[in-house]
Amino acid sequence: MSKALKGIIKLECKIRVLTGLHIGGSKENVEIGGIDNIVIKVPVLKLDEAIERDVPYIPGSSIKGKMRALLEWVEKPEGSMQVIALENKGEPCNCGRCRVCKLFGAHKNAKTEEPVRLRVEDFYPTEKTIDMWKKFLDGDFVEVKVENTIDRIKGTALHPRHQERVIPFSEFTGFIKIRVHEGDRKELFDTIIRGIQLLEDDYLGGSGSRGYGKVKFIKEKILWTDYRKQPFEEKIVDENEIANIYGA
Ligand SMILES: [Zn+2]
Repeated sequence: MSKALKGIIKLECKIRVLTGLHIGGSKENVEIGGIDNIVIKVPVLKLDEAIERDVPYIPGSSIKGKMRALLEWVEKPEGSMQVIALENKGEPCNCGRCRVCKLFGAHKNAKTEEPVRLRVEDFYPTEKTIDMWKKFLDGDFVEVKVENTIDRIKGTALHPRHQERVIPFSEFTGFIKIRVHEGDRKELFDTIIRGIQLLEDDYLGGSGSRGYGKVKFIKEKILWTDYRKQPFEEKIVDENEIANIYGA
């Protein structure tokens, strides 16, 4: 069967941070201070020099990786009764035929001819969010949270650690894109919607079991670009039209 590329669905989303978000960055570009765990930031040169300091963002790889890991606890590989996470003993699926492999790619499986359907962009803060950070965060774009362990005998705090976090009500914007090939079914799109729900019920970044990283996805609009039209035609569609795009 032909697997020609029919078009691409682009989900324009906002990610609203509901509890302090920590996606770890590298310490290389930071002067040595008291921070043990910094958050990942995009150098200001890549965004807008007027902002004057590096800007926290959400890497697409963090969203994609977490979504896949969560989906592998509910999705089964082709021909299996067991969910992927258990079937593969913690390794990502590499069957090359299930919905997860079609969307995210077969792990280390060079033999599959399935194209990878999913693209997740890096998500950058909205202007409103940068204004909020400037107003409330006293010269920085993150809060610093102090955490410690508790001495079981004395009940006192030990070993303080300093964690950078993106503050609640921050919003990031970007696209989740799903390429639609001939023969694809709407279940691929639905799997991504389920992945978003799973992510909202879990957490993004680190320390989720300690309250970090609760986020909400707000779907702003859905765009469909039909590559079979000359010139390519992009239009806004609503969720009910997705079935027609895939063809029943
Ligand atoms: Zn698979």
